[in-house]
Amino acid sequence: MRSFEKSLDMNTKIEILAPAGDYDALVGAIYGGADAVYLGVSEFNARIRAKNFTMETVKEAVRLAHAHGVKVYITLNTALYDRELSKMLEYTCELHNLGVDAFIVADFGVMSLIKATYPEIEVHASTQSTIHNLDGANFVVDTLGVKRVVLARELSKKNIEYVSKNAKCETEIFVHGAHCMSVSGQCLMSYFQGGRSGNRGECAQPCRLPYTINGKSSYHLSLKDMSLASNAKEILDLGVASLKIEGRMKSEDYVKGTVEAWRKIIDEKRNAKKEEIKTLGDLFSRQGFTDGYYKSKIDATMLGIRTQENKDTTKLQAEEKIVLQKPSVDICAEFYLGKESKLTLKVGEKEITVLGDIVEEAQNAPISREDIIKNLSKLGQTPFSLGKIEVLKSDNIMVRVSSINALRRQAVEKYFEVVRKLEVKEYKRPELKEPKKIKTAVFRCEEQIPQNVDYFDVVFLPIDKYKNGSRANGIQLPPVIFDSEWQEIEKMMDNAKSGGIEWALISNIGQIERAKKHGFKLIADYRFNVFNASCVDFLTKNGIENIILAPELSLAQARSFKGYSLISYGNIPAMTTHKCVLKDTVGCEKCEGYMTDRQGAKLFVHGIYGHRNLIYNSVPVYMADKLGDISDFSNHFIFSSETRDECGKVINAYKNKKAPNGTFRRIK
Ligand SMILES: [Zn+2]
Repeated sequence: MRSFEKSLDMNTKIEILAPAGDYDALVGAIYGGADAVYLGVSEFNARIRAKNFTMETVKEAVRLAHAHGVKVYITLNTALYDRELSKMLEYTCELHNLGVDAFIVADFGVMSLIKATYPEIEVHASTQSTIHNLDGANFVVDTLGVKRVVLARELSKKNIEYVSKNAKCETEIFVHGAHCMSVSGQCLMSYFQGGRSGNRGECAQPCRLPYTINGKSSYHLSLKDMSLASNAKEILDLGVASLKIEGRMKSEDYVKGTVEAWRKIIDEKRNAKKEEIKTLGDLFSRQGFTDGYYKSKIDATMLGIRTQENKDTTKLQAEEKIVLQKPSVDICAEFYLGKESKLTLKVGEKEITVLGDIVEEAQNAPISREDIIKNLSKLGQTPFSLGKIEVLKSDNIMVRVSSINALRRQAVEKYFEVVRKLEVKEYKRPELKEPKKIKTAVFRCEEQIPQNVDYFDVVFLPIDKYKNGSRANGIQLPPVIFDSEWQEIEKMMDNAKSGGIEWALISNIGQIERAKKHGFKLIADYRFNVFNASCVDFLTKNGIENIILAPELSLAQARSFKGYSLISYGNIPAMTTHKCVLKDTVGCEKCEGYMTDRQGAKLFVHGIYGHRNLIYNSVPVYMADKLGDISDFSNHFIFSSETRDECGKVINAYKNKKAPNGTFRRIK
């Protein structure tokens, strides 16, 4: 393990990180006083619908931001297919050479590839990579060289502080903006409802629609926007490096106003006042704000939608076009006879010097100081305006105008130049280890396990449902384990191990080390969002025996992962929520029920460890009569609302390759 000195210097400035969905929003962010911005480049980012930048426009964006001392991070936060990895390596290289400061990456395959190919590129692990504990943060530092982790948005103050003060990397938290109902990186709802995958940046926001639970139709999944502005003062002491404002779909007015407000309260080291919260809400809110997860006050007050009144108020706030003041640059030029001409640019603290042609003696009319100044002052095409200018020169010299212009251009170019340019490298697909084909299943509880369960090689039970004497030989770790919950989980793992449990189905990167330490053989659940060979390679090299591939993969795409596992039967959790959606409807005694969408589809919901919920998709995968199609793979079954009897029938149907009845999904 490499040593890491946590810098908790009080003078370390906390970063305000603002969204820049387009050039106007970037201007708004800079104007508002952001320290850094994040933006997407056409493909490869989680806001496909945002305007985004192209490779051409991103160059201007980086220059504008850097001229103002603002850092630029590129979001590369979608899961990528194998065929996209070459292009990804080309893009990251070119963007790095344009001066981009870091990449925000979700896919572990992409992180792993960047680390192996361009180790000098700075990578931040996106909130989509589902990191909500210290182990997760340190694991991506140790194995992937990640410099910063964007923590999952469900963390409480206590858990944020614990990770931030102990991790071997910087942490970033969301402090303002729209909030997903699902645990970060664990939402398949949009994919199941219309084929638009949130993991691929195409989320259609089904959480903003009404659903019916126990006869009550309401917006059970729509969270208010989050704002921690009322807690800003204490946030400064949590050890967090960066405060992120959400909103790459938002206007420049929104970005400017929100950043301005945050800039002020952070600079003045205080909480937002009531009227400031109102100003922020007028810019955009969904019936006000929530800080529920942060304060561990998780209840119905967290829910809200965008009302007509909210929209009208926002409209009234629209301002005139923002004009950015260009930062001024001081110029000092020297033209001494017989020496190279020399120009020094100074912007703030940064100083750049370039050398040009040898200054010659004038044959006819010597160049005047005024002419030199006139040509050096042409900064119109740059993000700078002219400050002080000083020209030192010999008398009776000749300098061509073209040579003065070249000197000026060269200096501006050098100002933005990347010190270490990289060369594009080709993607080479790793040779994958082919695991032994196995059949696995996860049941909800012991009572659900039928007689004919020996159909499976590994039978998983949620760890909190496991008791010694169980028929299971595997335990499933919960989708979310906060640091404050490890003690309890560790005890359960000890107990499972002593009961002879061999296997662990793990949910995310933050569970690998501890599950290994307990001596379990590991299978990575579909929750790792494995889309590409680089990711498979990374996980197997870190001791994972088998992987349940992302349900979004088509059969053709999965073909190159022989031996790995496909979800071959069952309803798949579409959402994992940290807030119980049943609490105010069916209640939590049983914490189990159905949610009906507008098309009448019924989604099974039940409480799991930590009083979180799983909301399953409405239509199960069924492949009993198509087993030939998936015979190259391991097969994983998910049992959710089925009774013991029904589970037994499903297994028999697969044994007998029985045709389905009812509606179902196919892997195709
Ligand atoms: Zn509940």
